[in-house]
Amino acid sequence: MSFRLKAILGITLIQALLLFTLIWNGAQILISSHEEALLKQASTATHVFASATRDAVLATDVGSLENAIVQALTNPDIVYARVVGKEGVLAEGGNSGILKRPFKADHDYQSASDGVFDSTANITVGNEQYGHVEVGFSIDKIKDTIITARHETTILAISVMAMVGLFSYLFAMYLTRRLDTLKTASQRIAEGVFGHQIAVHGTDELAQTAVAFNEMSLKLHQLDTNRKRAEDEIKNLNANLEARVAFRTHQLAVINKELEHLALHDALTNLPNRTLFHDRVEQAILSARREKKSFALMSLDLDRFKPINDTLGHHAGDFVLQEISTRLTHCLRQSDTLARMGGDEFSILLLNVTTTEDVMVSVNKIIRTIIKPIAINDTTLAVGVSIGIAMFPDHSDDLTTLMCHSDSAMYAAKRAQNVYTFYNSAIEKDSGSCMALQFDLRHAIENEELILHYQPKIDLTSHCVSGVEALVRWQHPGHGLIYPDAFITFAEKNGLMKQLTLKVLEMAFRQCDLWHQKNLNLSMAVNISAINLQDPIFPDRVAGLLGKFSVPACYIELEITETAIMTDPLRAIENIKKLNGMGLQVSIDDFGTGYSSMAYLQKLLVAKIKIDKSFVMEMDNNPSDDVIVRSTIDLGHNLGLKVVAEGVESQESWDRLKEMGCDSAQGYFMSRPISADQFMQWIKESPFGSGSSAVPTQK
Ligand code: C2E
Ligand code: CA
Ligand code: CA
Repeated sequence: MSFRLKAILGITLIQALLLFTLIWNGAQILISSHEEALLKQASTATHVFASATRDAVLATDVGSLENAIVQALTNPDIVYARVVGKEGVLAEGGNSGILKRPFKADHDYQSASDGVFDSTANITVGNEQYGHVEVGFSIDKIKDTIITARHETTILAISVMAMVGLFSYLFAMYLTRRLDTLKTASQRIAEGVFGHQIAVHGTDELAQTAVAFNEMSLKLHQLDTNRKRAEDEIKNLNANLEARVAFRTHQLAVINKELEHLALHDALTNLPNRTLFHDRVEQAILSARREKKSFALMSLDLDRFKPINDTLGHHAGDFVLQEISTRLTHCLRQSDTLARMGGDEFSILLLNVTTTEDVMVSVNKIIRTIIKPIAINDTTLAVGVSIGIAMFPDHSDDLTTLMCHSDSAMYAAKRAQNVYTFYNSAIEKDSGSCMALQFDLRHAIENEELILHYQPKIDLTSHCVSGVEALVRWQHPGHGLIYPDAFITFAEKNGLMKQLTLKVLEMAFRQCDLWHQKNLNLSMAVNISAINLQDPIFPDRVAGLLGKFSVPACYIELEITETAIMTDPLRAIENIKKLNGMGLQVSIDDFGTGYSSMAYLQKLLVAKIKIDKSFVMEMDNNPSDDVIVRSTIDLGHNLGLKVVAEGVESQESWDRLKEMGCDSAQGYFMSRPISADQFMQWIKESPFGSGSSAVPTQK
């Protein structure tokens, strides 16, 4: 039911109740006043009749009485009249039926149920009563009056009710019309149309509600506008963001591609690197196995490359490597893979070759292209090459062994000064080292299979042993003694270097401690890899180990290569500073083979440089090496560093180094690396033994 209908009904009901009460009361009052008038009229008429008949009663004049009755009955309202004396009825007249019934005076209109109001009055003289009169009045007239009054009242009530209804309707319409406006406006808000305003009339509650509604509508409109604006902005941002994300994704894809390329290619020659090459060989193995085909794997190492680097500088060396790479790329088939494995080493994967003759076609082309002179600046250079070849599946059907075999064949070619060598089992017996990588080195570290050999360093002024270099070996239960070149790189690549170095340090510290207890106060040099140098907790580990022994830190020397430092110079410097701070000495190993700048050397707080053995060993025969050694000694001294020459293999080298002012020497001429027991023997017997000042005359 609508509010409007409720209002109309409510108002109508209340007003109808009030009116009904009013009209009903009015009608009652009207009826009562008619009754009262009847009673009064009847009583008066009866008394008047009694007075009129008094004399005739006293005189018992019946005729007069009957006349009086006839007279009374002329009044249309009188139904009958009777005069009663002391002895009984004296005269009577009127409606005979009514006269027959016993008389009983009525007191009110209601008791006159037979339609006749019976009234009586005494006939008295003084105080004595002589009789009484009985008169009956018709109540038809009053009845009519009452019915008329009732009708009129009902008509009045109905018309008033109709008026009330109409009034209520109009009033409710007036009230609800404004509510209607509010309702319509609210519906518009519900439909999402904000800002709609309604007219405000007056100051009553509805007007106040309208004002509040208008304010709300305006605020909603404002909020809606802001929301739409924000939505537009978000849409724009989203569109922008999507564009930026797409752009960034594209950039990332490009960078990823570049990174992937960098990770899989050599920066200098843009050739595939070792990782990509291994991947290609693995794929070749899979497809060759499937298709029952064979292929060849070649390891190439340039000859006479190092002198180019040393004499003409790294730029020249880089140029040669790039030139060789380009030439090799052109002389190989598209399906073959040429990779630079590092330094002057290359590898080639020759697909779909079955016989040695097939391979030889490519080998000859490769050799011819490499040995062609290279013009650089104003000079013409020539490099040679040593090639080792292993065949799949004849020599092996797995990647590691195949790679090992081609390497071993290449070394064999170098040793025999052949340009190329095909792998054969005799080569394996000779080297064996490559295959050692496959052995369980972790197990070896944990099971004390590693041992140290010590190579003395002799002071070139006093000819005394100043210290030793600890060199690790793997005492393999099946393969005998394996040299570090065969497993150090493997350890570095397989996350074993930290463990290995700690093991070596511990063994070296223990040995040094033992010698010190025997008053053999030698310094102990240990080789540290790039991985250790980049390890932030390495100095703490060294400190922890040092704490286990009583050797003073100043007797410990850590040998690090230039390459190890240049991997991440800042981190390396930080660790070197810490190690220095602990009192340990640091020396640069294989000096001359890397790219360290003088500026770094000064920052590094190193105590010594060790001239790489390749220069020292060749110094007797190669004047340029002699120059390099001398200038390195001068350079070291100018920087305030001690200089050690390693790889001293002859009396001539010894003499020359002494002459050049080199501080100490290490090499097979004085002693090969030997076990601790052998070392004790050596020191007793050798002219270089501690305290000895004899100049060696023979090895
Ligand atoms: P390196 O540090 O340059 O060590 C010197 C190497 O030169 C030793 O080879 C030594 O036997 C050899 N050598 C010494 N005097 C002469 C000589 O007069 N002529 C010739 N031809 N060679 C000489 P080794 O012991 O095979 O070690 C090879 C390399 O293995 C070491 O080179 C070093 O880089 C690495 N290495 C050895 N032990 C460890 C170690 O404990 N930790 C680490 N990280 N590397 C080690
Ligand atoms: Ca060394
Ligand atoms: Ca060295």
